Amino acid sequence: MNLKFLGDGILNKPSNKVDITQIKKTSFIENLEILRKHLHMHNGSGIAAPQIGWDMKVILLGIDANYTYDTNTIGKFCLKTFGDTILELRYWLNPEIIFTSDEQVYCWEGCLSIPNKYGWIKRPETVIVKGWDENGIQLTKTYSGITSRLVQHEIDHINGQLFVDRVACDKFIVPDEAFDDPNFIFPSKGTCQTKFGELSPIE
Ligand SMILES: [Zn+2]
Repeated sequence: MNLKFLGDGILNKPSNKVDITQIKKTSFIENLEILRKHLHMHNGSGIAAPQIGWDMKVILLGIDANYTYDTNTIGKFCLKTFGDTILELRYWLNPEIIFTSDEQVYCWEGCLSIPNKYGWIKRPETVIVKGWDENGIQLTKTYSGITSRLVQHEIDHINGQLFVDRVACDKFIVPDEAFDDPNFIFPSKGTCQTKFGELSPIE
């Protein structure tokens, strides 16, 4: 399984629902492990099954304390977002957002499937997610701040949505050089005042 990029049809369709009675099958467990390997190999902080061509509603979040990341490759900004924070590895099967806060915030988002481009996107600050873990245990969890942003981005993937579908218009997509170039002209007040990995209340 290889990483899928913008333009690949599997990224634009809702993924198949996981049959929770089938999750102990060897093939399913092997695919979970392949997903984890891709998350690490590409320096991501989150990944969704369709990004590796696996047509299932499965996502994985996390930054692994036991893995040495190469911070020069595609996911470098994903890691910058979390600094030295260790984010527990967490699989979600069939995750659904069952609550969104009225408070909305903006943030620069990147995606392993859209290398070197970042989008300025508004989303709810807090969400509640319901789904299953890899052992078939049903979970409900509240996410706020940057991890809320991450889980919303990954759940979008299993529903066939990419960050480019969520930007207000294409001026809100910038190259990664923008964040290192003091002369870069950002499209709005919020975008130029907000570092990668920070949330902003203003556009
Ligand atoms: Zn993504």
